[in-house]
Amino acid sequence: MQTKEADKKAVVCFSGGQDSTTALAMALKSYEAVYTIGFDYGQRHAAELECRSRILADIEPLLGTRALGGDLLIDLSQYGRIAECALTRSEAIIFDDEKGLPNTFVPGRNLLFVTYAAALAYRVGAHDIILGVSEQDYSGYPDCREESLEPLALSLSRGMEYPIRVVAPFMHCSKAHEWELARETGGDALVDFIVRQTHTCYTGEHSRLHTWGYGCGECPACRLRAKGYEEYLQKLAKEP
Ligand code: ZN
Repeated sequence: MQTKEADKKAVVCFSGGQDSTTALAMALKSYEAVYTIGFDYGQRHAAELECRSRILADIEPLLGTRALGGDLLIDLSQYGRIAECALTRSEAIIFDDEKGLPNTFVPGRNLLFVTYAAALAYRVGAHDIILGVSEQDYSGYPDCREESLEPLALSLSRGMEYPIRVVAPFMHCSKAHEWELARETGGDALVDFIVRQTHTCYTGEHSRLHTWGYGCGECPACRLRAKGYEEYLQKLAKEP
């Protein structure tokens, strides 16, 4: 049974990338207490983790909220050893036709993240876990889909005898729409903040600033981010 108090709290899986930063901003505007959790699994894009602390320090003054309740960074370096892929070792990012997935797929990653977040939610008295994943527009990672996350929430709720809900605001959302949601949440200032402060590039390149943010401009994550931002600008230009 959900109490009113618990409905005011949320746990955000927060990596320091575009998706989770937008989700965090939306949560800060909607909940009274927001707890963040991040994971270090030996990812090549450690620049993302470096962005985390800066974002956590600067996002509330920007939004005018006071909801951040604390942050946890979980060391999953041992998981990185099992889940070796192009995100955790130096190799070219390619598409594996046999598996139907790019070699950036880290098996079970989001399932593990949500399980950790659920344990934190239990501890702080929250029921909602906010996850910036999308079924649309992405690389087809099966652990980003509703069909894998909903049964997981059910399993966690039963296993902890405590209601857990996975809230994925971008589940059916394009990248362009995600930029629109950022604008609705915090205006152009938040869009600019996300462009400059977040990191999405798979290769960890964080020295070149493009209109859409930092990155190599070549990897699938950069191309997706650039394309989404371009579409967002085009839509914006058509607004009266
Ligand atoms: Zn890149």
